[in-house]
Amino acid sequence: MKNVAILGSTGSVGKSTLEVIKQNKDKFCIELLTAHTNYELMIEQYNEFSPRYIYLEDPSAQKSFIDRVGSINKETALLTSENELNNVLSSDATEIVVAAMVGVAGLKPVYQAVKHKKKVLLANKESYVVAGEILNNLSQESGSTIFPIDSEHSAVHQCLQGVKDQKSVSRIILTGSGGPFLNREISDFENITPKEAISHPVWNMGDKISVDSSTMMNKCLEIIEARWLFQTKNIDVLIHPEGIIHSLVEFTDNSMLAQLSVPDMKIPIAYGLGYPSKIHSGSSSINFEEISSLTLKKPDLQKFPALNLAKSCIDIGGTSFAILNAANEECVAAFLAGKITYLDIYQIVSKVLDNSTINDVKELNDIFEADERSRSTTKELINKI
Ligand code: MG
Repeated sequence: MKNVAILGSTGSVGKSTLEVIKQNKDKFCIELLTAHTNYELMIEQYNEFSPRYIYLEDPSAQKSFIDRVGSINKETALLTSENELNNVLSSDATEIVVAAMVGVAGLKPVYQAVKHKKKVLLANKESYVVAGEILNNLSQESGSTIFPIDSEHSAVHQCLQGVKDQKSVSRIILTGSGGPFLNREISDFENITPKEAISHPVWNMGDKISVDSSTMMNKCLEIIEARWLFQTKNIDVLIHPEGIIHSLVEFTDNSMLAQLSVPDMKIPIAYGLGYPSKIHSGSSSINFEEISSLTLKKPDLQKFPALNLAKSCIDIGGTSFAILNAANEECVAAFLAGKITYLDIYQIVSKVLDNSTINDVKELNDIFEADERSRSTTKELINKI
């Protein structure tokens, strides 16, 4: 039995992880579940999975949890501080850490888990985007392994199994569904509402990542994520609206390998949890009778200019990733709150990136400082609108 900690268990990836674990009760048990505020769902998860530890970040959610549950059973302890959380993440009892929380706020616990040699299943792409170099160096020192819980990166990881020589890989091609506005006229982009932006045609995900998918900022972050995970800058993107081919790898002989499945996060989660074995995911298999064709085409960079930002940041390096990510997180939140328009998101993010000083990254604090500066510059620009 392997002990699993799920950071962000009440979110979309957290819930899917618990579903995969339910299919494999003989292999995994729950060490820790954490959430920000959703104590109601945490009560359900507590009753069903009896974790050894629970952590609710928000103090009023902690209180509501205790009020509702009454006395907590003897097998479970409720953690009340970040310190206690770090102790559980560092302890030998925890073997696998699933980082499924949203945003760069996840970086500190991810750092702890990597430092203490855990197998880290990383759905929190923001942490890796901003601190890829630090986390890679740390995992080399500690012997931790970082697994992508992103369908594209999981696909690339699978295509690279059996490749003995890194030099035989010529490029990685990430696919993207194109999001809800693939076929919308660019002249109509200014009228896009938050409700339209969070209705993804293929994937059922949280609000932040759904907006990122619609602007293709998600693909931009994924290019950076792939750069850190697979140590290459040769990364292209193709639009694949059917969401069946999750990514491809091209080799020096011009042959390609691709990974296919229905679009269901349970598959990359099961791959990470079970690796190197394949385990049950609880997902369905592809029904080729229902799929009339599989299409792949180049993205429209005029409609989705956010894709260009990946290459600029990879060329610049340093704190540019943190600045990009923080500006985007603030803009998406402002768009969802009705403070800025859809087109303002890219305008503001690229302006913040152009006007910021980029520094080298030597330690986590360099990232947090850049993150904070970028957020305040972004908020100033948002308030001017
Ligand atoms: Mg993805």
